Amino acid sequence: MKKAIITISGGIDSTLTAAIAKSRGYGLYFLTVNYGQKNLARELANTSYFASYYGAEKHKVIDMTWLGELGKSGMTDADISFNERDDDLIYVPFRNACILAAAIAWAETDPDVEKIFIGSEAGPWICPDNSPEFIAMMNELASKAMKTNNSVTIEAPLNYLDKPGIIKTALEYKVPLEHTWTCVANASKPCGICQPCRNRREAFESLGLLDPATNFES
Ligand SMILES: [Zn+2]
Repeated sequence: MKKAIITISGGIDSTLTAAIAKSRGYGLYFLTVNYGQKNLARELANTSYFASYYGAEKHKVIDMTWLGELGKSGMTDADISFNERDDDLIYVPFRNACILAAAIAWAETDPDVEKIFIGSEAGPWICPDNSPEFIAMMNELASKAMKTNNSVTIEAPLNYLDKPGIIKTALEYKVPLEHTWTCVANASKPCGICQPCRNRREAFESLGLLDPATNFES
């Protein structure tokens, strides 16, 4: 069976991306990255749940804690708190290129891997490493850099969907949204303040739907 590597954090986007890959007939290899993120415990728990739920054949958790040690991100720095004004705090310097580099390296070790999926949504992008231009450049990089299995391609199937569109699509794919986790502030309870929390809440509200995972403090 052909295989696909899914970069997965357990949020709505990457989990829907896994569901899409499975629906296309791929055997799933999950890749979760520990870059020192504040919500790591939740990401590990939820991606393990989804690995079981979707029958992932492999689930690697790769250590990139050096990214967090470099700092300069609200995602990793204990002394940077999220607020409702500075959405740029969710950017982690060059993170997605590093994650995709790990996925490309993994793909080079397994000739069954045909595809790498990442759950980047539509713009405008707070993080430029979610744009179609970035994905295209990583594809070009992979084709030039890989010695073996270099027909592998990277795809971001949600790159044309905003968050309400992603939620609607996730419902079509019957993604168990109650098990997804979006907050990047911590792993115990959604803060309701960080950009991903606000974006998720606004998207559900715009659709007139209740978030099955909502348990906000505010
Ligand atoms: Zn939050």
